[in-house]
Amino acid sequence: MAGVAFGCACGAVSGRVDPCTRHSGTHVQCFCTDCRRADLHLDQPDPANSGVGLFITTADTVSFATGVDQLACFQMSRSGPLRWYAACCTTPLFNTSPKRQFPFVAVHVGRLVDRDVLGPVKLRTFRPSGNGRSRHSGNPIAFFQVVGRVISARVTGRWRKTPFFDNVSGRPIIAPQRVI
Ligand SMILES: [Zn+2]
Ligand SMILES: [Zn+2]
Repeated sequence: MAGVAFGCACGAVSGRVDPCTRHSGTHVQCFCTDCRRADLHLDQPDPANSGVGLFITTADTVSFATGVDQLACFQMSRSGPLRWYAACCTTPLFNTSPKRQFPFVAVHVGRLVDRDVLGPVKLRTFRPSGNGRSRHSGNPIAFFQVVGRVISARVTGRWRKTPFFDNVSGRPIIAPQRVI
């Protein structure tokens, strides 16, 4: 079977990301404060120095096999991404746009059973630079690849196929909690 399986820590929530290759998404290491706060909110180890490994692709590549009833999500600001996790074991799984029309998904790399397929990290985002600011490093083309995939999903209509939003109402399948 193509693609790569993912699962929460206890195994209740599982599924596949398909396709899942170095060409189907962008491997990113994010050092932003919101990603860190989100991990801490879910009682994960502090990712302060290592950053959070994310694989950015389009939402139509994600499908759930088990445990959709355990899915939950929260938002750290009104327009911020939806941070989806497995409520059974508070495992962070995905970040998505709060709007169905922007069909990107950031898969938490640590939840994939095979990470070698992603290739090396192409972008390091919001890395502290020591002067109180943050900077991005990596191949700028990688950023445009992310945007390009989302545009392609829009144009081809693939954006309609997402497991995170209701097809009829266009709303997230689970109402997001607000975490300040
Ligand atoms: Zn679980
Ligand atoms: Zn981040």
